Amino acid sequence: MSRIEELWHVPWTAAICEVCDWAYLIPVGKVDAICPHCYQDTVTPLPEDAVMQLAAPEMIVPFSVSAEKVRANAEQFAKSIPFRPADLSGDTLHDRLQPVFLPFWLVDSDVQAVWQAETGFDYNVVSHEERYQGGRWQTIEKQETRIRWEPRIGRLQRHYDNIPAPALEEHDHLARLLGRYDTEAAQTYASTLLQEALVRLPNRNSADAWPDAEPILVKRAADECRQAAAAQHVRQFQWQSTYADQQWTQMLVPVFTSFYRNDEGQPMTVLFNGQSGRISGVRHASMQRARQIALYAGITAVLLFVLAVMLLVFEMPFAGLVAVLAAAAVFGAIYPIIAVAQFNRAQRDDWFAMQTRRQPE
Ligand SMILES: [Zn+2]
Repeated sequence: MSRIEELWHVPWTAAICEVCDWAYLIPVGKVDAICPHCYQDTVTPLPEDAVMQLAAPEMIVPFSVSAEKVRANAEQFAKSIPFRPADLSGDTLHDRLQPVFLPFWLVDSDVQAVWQAETGFDYNVVSHEERYQGGRWQTIEKQETRIRWEPRIGRLQRHYDNIPAPALEEHDHLARLLGRYDTEAAQTYASTLLQEALVRLPNRNSADAWPDAEPILVKRAADECRQAAAAQHVRQFQWQSTYADQQWTQMLVPVFTSFYRNDEGQPMTVLFNGQSGRISGVRHASMQRARQIALYAGITAVLLFVLAVMLLVFEMPFAGLVAVLAAAAVFGAIYPIIAVAQFNRAQRDDWFAMQTRRQPE
């Protein structure tokens, strides 16, 4: 029995896509699956010792979005693209859905610390204000809440569980595409929750992920110190801390991937949040389709011009009207080409901005 099988309680194995470098755990029977990220190649086996963390995840957020929602969002995505490629429709996206789980780190840690902070206590003050009302001065009583700040120093010895941290280098980009997950819905790992989905393996080690986990831990600690002081607010929290006995496990969150082919037959990946149904992917309008429509409009324009000239030559009515229709057809021949070029350029700029911009906190 392989280590993966032993730890995950399923006959699975590791595999990697040589094109996009995404590594997965995958049912043994699916080792020749197409990569559900780039859709450009099949995955190839990866030795177990190349896997960063072999242990099974601690928690899984299960797939919970309804089929109707996914279908409706796929439909809407397809409709949002003018002159969309022939291969793109709500149905094709829906039929090609591939479930994948993405990893997060969860770290448990013992903490010993000396801390100092200012804790804030609410108190009410009553003040009076003179206001000119109804032709005379009146005294109005006003209640106002103010905060009294007091310095506090203390020691803290605690164990913290399940502090989340990104396990993927592409985390920020994926988070922008997929939006939030409600991790309250996470369940303790059971192999039945995997449901034949592929599981993306982490590519970011715990040492790199720790700087993202620590601020969350500090925030939790500050809030606990606030509660211990029976205060309503806390500010300027500082501590000297030592961490011990850190345990790194994983939490998996659900994604559906799908794709459509552009004019050149290249697969364009589309992602769905497996919990909220949020969809995102490159929107690519079809120049082929635009050219086809432009060609028909162009032929119509030429025929109408010929007709207009003939009507003029034979001094028959409606020559002017036919000439106007011909001009409209010329516009119809130019518009699709410009619209598609502009749409694709705007999409490409958006996508590039999204890839390079760091996520705001
Ligand atoms: Zn790939």
